[in-house]
Amino acid sequence: MTANMSSQQTTQTEQLGHVLIGGLGKTGLGLAQWCLPRLGTTIDSLTIYGGAASTASDETEELERAGVSCVLGTDMVEGSYDLAICAPGIPETSAFFHSITSHARTSIGEPEFAWRQSPEHWLAITGSNGKTTATYLTRDLLRAAGLSASEVGNIGRLAISCVDERRQDEWFVAELSSFQLAGTEHFHPRAAALLNISPDHVSWHGSFEAYVEAKERIFENLCPEDLAVISVDDERCRAIAERLHERGLNVCEVSAEREIASDYAAYVKDGNLVLKRGDSEQIIASEDELVLTGPHNMQNALVASALALFAGAKLEGVRRGLQSFSPLEHRIEPCGTWHGVSFVNDSKATNVDASLAAIRAYPGKRAVYLLGGEDKQTELDALGQALAQHAKAIVCYGEARERFVAELGPVCVAANVQLREADHLADAFERGLELCVHGDTLILSPACASHDEFKSFEERGHVFKQMVSALGEGE
Ligand code: ADP
Repeated sequence: MTANMSSQQTTQTEQLGHVLIGGLGKTGLGLAQWCLPRLGTTIDSLTIYGGAASTASDETEELERAGVSCVLGTDMVEGSYDLAICAPGIPETSAFFHSITSHARTSIGEPEFAWRQSPEHWLAITGSNGKTTATYLTRDLLRAAGLSASEVGNIGRLAISCVDERRQDEWFVAELSSFQLAGTEHFHPRAAALLNISPDHVSWHGSFEAYVEAKERIFENLCPEDLAVISVDDERCRAIAERLHERGLNVCEVSAEREIASDYAAYVKDGNLVLKRGDSEQIIASEDELVLTGPHNMQNALVASALALFAGAKLEGVRRGLQSFSPLEHRIEPCGTWHGVSFVNDSKATNVDASLAAIRAYPGKRAVYLLGGEDKQTELDALGQALAQHAKAIVCYGEARERFVAELGPVCVAANVQLREADHLADAFERGLELCVHGDTLILSPACASHDEFKSFEERGHVFKQMVSALGEGE
C-alpha cells in the first residue's frame, strides 16, 4: 500500500477560498502546514490570528515569507472569510471566538476539518475521563487483530497532520475533547463512544449544560448502520443513551457495574468481560487476564473492545491486545516499592471523578492519598464518601489544601481515616510516607490541576516518581 493514498482524493480538490486559522499553538501551526502547499490552488488566501497575547516569532516570520498573513496581538478579527478553523484553546465564550465566527461564513474545529479531507474509517472517543487510555487501547486492539490503526486528536497527534500520509484501510481512532467536539458540524465517524460525564471545563463552555451538549455531539451524525457505544454507569450518559435509542441508532450499552438487559451491550459478568448480542453472550476476556485494573479500566476495556469488534477485529486479536496493554504513564501507574510500601503515580487525576477511579481501584483501607494542587472548586461529597470507605489516610496540600481539609476532614475523621496537611507536593510526600507501613500504597491522585506548583500534570508526575526513586533501593 502506498503512502499518500488519502481515502478522499475528491475533497482535497475542493475550493476552500479565503481561510482563517484561529490560534497559533500546535493546532494552528499544524493547520497552517497543511494549508501552505495548497495556497494559490484550493486556498485563495490564508490568514492566521494569534490572539491578544501573540507576538512575532521565527515561525510567524516564516509563514509570512510563505505568503500567509499573520495577525498578532489582537482578538479583533477584520475582513471576511469563507472558512474559519479554530484551535480548541479558544473558549467558545470568548470575545476572540465571537470575533472569528462573526467574520467567517463557516467556523469549525480542526477534527471536523481533518475529517472533511479524509472521512473514511474514523472511530471517535470522548468522555470526562479515560479518553486517552481508551483511545490507545482501541488502537492497540485493532493492531493486535492485524488491522491498520493510528491514534489522532486530543491525544497529541493532530489529525490534519496525518491525513495526507494515511493508508486507505487505516482506522483513525480519534480522542476528542469537548472543546474539539464543540467545533464539529458534519463529523461522522463509523462508531463513536462516550465513556462518562462529570463536571469539568465548565468555564470554557460557559455552563455544564453546554459541556454535556458538546460531548453528545460525538453522536450527532451517526446513521443506523453505525455504532454508538455508551457507558450507562452515570445518569447523564443514561439520558443520552435514551435519546440515541429514540433516534433508532445501533447502541451498545456498556457497564462496568452490572449486567445490561438490552440487545447490544458489553459488561462485566462473573469476572469476565462480556459482549451481548441479542440472546447470546460472548466472553471477550477474563478480568484477570488484563494488566489494567479497577472498574474504570474495565469500562475503558469494554468500550475499546466494542469499538474494535465493530471495526472488524477478530475476538482472538482483541483478547491478545487486552492482555498486553499496560497502564499509561501518570494514570494509576505503579512506580516502585520501598520497604514494602508501593507507589502509584496518578497525576493525570486532575478532577474528582478521576481520583474516585483510583480510590475504587484500591479498596481495603491500605492506601494513603496525596490530594491537592490547583483547586477546580468541584463538589467533594462523593470523594469524601469514597475515602471514608476505602482510604487509610489522606494528605491535603497546595492551593486546595484549606477547602479540602474543611470539606473532607469531618467525614474522614468520623471514618478513622487519618488526615494530614502539607504545603506542597514534596512536603505531602514526606507526610504521606510517615503514615505508610509495609503493605500500604502511597498514591498521588490529586483531584486537582497542577498549575499552582507545576507546569503540567506530567511534570508533577515526574517529580513524584523522582521522589520515589530518591528513596533508594528498598527490598
Ligand atoms: P483523559 O484523556 O480523558 O484525561 P486518561 O486516560 O488520560 O483520560 O485518564 C485520566 C485520569 O482518569 C487518570 O487519573 C485515570 O486513572 C482516570 N481514568 C481513566 N479511565 C477512567 C474512566 N473510565 N473513568 C474514570 N476515570 C478514569
